[in-house]
Amino acid sequence: MTDRYAVIGHPVAHSKSPWIHAEFARTCGQDIEYTRIEARLDGFERAVDAFRAGGGKGLNVTLPFKEAAFRYCSRPSERARRAGVVNTLSFGAQSSGDTTDGIGLVTDLGKQGVRLKGVRVLLMGAGGAAQGVAGALLDAGVAALVIANRTVGRARALAERFPGLRACGYGDLEGKTFDLIINATSAGLEDKAPALPSGVMGKAAFAYDMVYGRDTPFLASARAAGARTSDGLGMLVEQAAESFFIWRGVKPDTGPVLARLRAA
Ligand code: NAP
Repeated sequence: MTDRYAVIGHPVAHSKSPWIHAEFARTCGQDIEYTRIEARLDGFERAVDAFRAGGGKGLNVTLPFKEAAFRYCSRPSERARRAGVVNTLSFGAQSSGDTTDGIGLVTDLGKQGVRLKGVRVLLMGAGGAAQGVAGALLDAGVAALVIANRTVGRARALAERFPGLRACGYGDLEGKTFDLIINATSAGLEDKAPALPSGVMGKAAFAYDMVYGRDTPFLASARAAGARTSDGLGMLVEQAAESFFIWRGVKPDTGPVLARLRAA
């Protein structure tokens, strides 16, 4: 019998995950079906329960349900517990939860030749995406990790979860420079950028926007400052590969899938 998986979110119609997982399944010879579930904002648990009752094996969880997924699962992994978010649910007698955004980001950065050990990193945003990657960046041995957010209290709350992380507002960054600047805000989706003081982005910096499929104002200003840049398409594919591995025990080759997405 074909095992069933899906991505659940609101909205979810734009999600590339069904295509990515279909490619992984095809190239790894795995018999799976992967669909989309648009849950009502107040209907996450009900939608997950219904999917499980129908024999569903696992879910990817996207905006705005990653914290709800953490609360839902009975067996969160260590890294999910640390982050307080889950993007991968697996169902058996119990529900296990993991977060693969962090490993997805770190793998993509590594493939682009970006060193993490000993570098100074600015992480912008304090939502589900920032929550999911902060632990992986600290584990990769960065020299400093500063988290800046429009709503400073949210950044401070995140810093309390992760010893070693420092929180502030964008205005507090005046006069500071970083080797790697990661935009984990959704500002780019509205063609906006966080109000970063000029000078924070040096010529030697690498600027990474988790938003993908569009040239965001953040990436444009980074290029203008002479920085190297990347969107988040590679992270999307790498985090999906980690989810696929959790479910199927097989690691897909991500290179050709990313190349085909870029070409499209
Ligand atoms: P979220 O929980 O809704 O958080 C949104 C964040 O963006 C908050 O920190 C918010 O600040 C900030 N923000 C929104 N508009 C802003 C603006 N105009 N100026 C400054 N800050 C602004 O969303 P999320 O789950 O963290 O996701 C964030 C982005 O990452 C989304 O675009 C998502 O698609 C992307 N993402 C990509 C991948 C990937 O694989 N590439 C994985 C995960 C997420 P406040 O707290 O002040 O509201």
